[in-house]
Amino acid sequence: MADTNSVHKKGGKITMSENKSIGVLTSGGDAPGMNAALRAVVRTGIYHGNTLFGIKRGYQGMIEGEIQQLTRSSVSNIIKYGGTVMQTARSAEFLTKEGREKAFKNLKRFGIDNLIVIGGDGSFRGLHEFIHEFPVQGIGVPGTIDNDLYGTDFTIGFDTAVNTGLEAIDKIRDTASSHSRLFIIEVMGRTSGYIALYTGIGGGAEEILIPEAPMDIQKLCTKLDTDHKRGKQSSIIVVTEGEETGGALEIKADIEKVINWDIKVSILGHLQRGGDPSAFDRVLASRLGYEAVLATMNNQSDKMVGIVNKIVTLTPLEETWSKKKVLDLTYLTMNEVLAAQPAPSISLTC
Ligand code: ADP
Repeated sequence: MADTNSVHKKGGKITMSENKSIGVLTSGGDAPGMNAALRAVVRTGIYHGNTLFGIKRGYQGMIEGEIQQLTRSSVSNIIKYGGTVMQTARSAEFLTKEGREKAFKNLKRFGIDNLIVIGGDGSFRGLHEFIHEFPVQGIGVPGTIDNDLYGTDFTIGFDTAVNTGLEAIDKIRDTASSHSRLFIIEVMGRTSGYIALYTGIGGGAEEILIPEAPMDIQKLCTKLDTDHKRGKQSSIIVVTEGEETGGALEIKADIEKVINWDIKVSILGHLQRGGDPSAFDRVLASRLGYEAVLATMNNQSDKMVGIVNKIVTLTPLEETWSKKKVLDLTYLTMNEVLAAQPAPSISLTC
């Protein structure tokens, strides 16, 4: 269960240990705002008298000993940049006990006994496994555009990814209406429909297909056909990559069997991972990075910092991937209402 408000105890004194040696890394898929989180971790850590080490290329850099002490100025001017200056990696070697042993030896070499990992569920699985095998404490900071982690309302990078998707949809809308076309836009999100839902609503999409609410393709075709006959000249469908009914290309092929409409596909892909972080992501990342250090100094471990209903929370790492974050399907219903095409009105003549 989420450990609500355990980082700050209002009115209560927090016993915090200083002089910790904290290693920070970004891991897995990059997300805009990771740099802002990194900056907050380094600056908060140093402010409170800890020694901060940057570990390059995620767990792979930990295995290869790419570790260096950071100063306040090491993270100057990075808040506004997308990607991650520490770089990130997917490390097959860290999946093995031998790999993790090598990583631990390197941490020992630098005297690091605390880790702060900025990443997604895979990175948290790795951290959980690692701190159960070796005498190291670890806190996770949710950095992924997918917003698929239980224990935080929003993950770092999600807002920017949605805004990037919106820019694309706005542009596609211009060409879709000029040519009377149906556009299917595929966005990222893996098994989570958050990016599609928010991008679709913000972009005024006629249909949003997300894994949390699989839609029968026949029903979709009937609806599109009816709307088309009622005079709808162009439509936009936003779909999550790998949605149960398939990605954008599969859906296009299915619809073409039923409707005679000019259909185009646009797959946004990695475009959504890049770009300067939005104001929302910079603020979120700063707060979570700051809280991650306070949690570390508060001797918390094996937990992720998040914000739920505006309250800073600590959630056991294991719950962040084993529990399903509930997506409010009212937003989908709302979009259906907002996009509904009315039946042509019958003019009564006396
Ligand atoms: P993300 O953090 O974005 O979900 P990945 O799923 O690629 O990214 O995970 C990042 C890295 O975390 C992997 O490359 C691997 O090194 C490590 N990792 C993932 N799962 C485990 C696990 N069960 N045990 C150990 N390490 C893991």
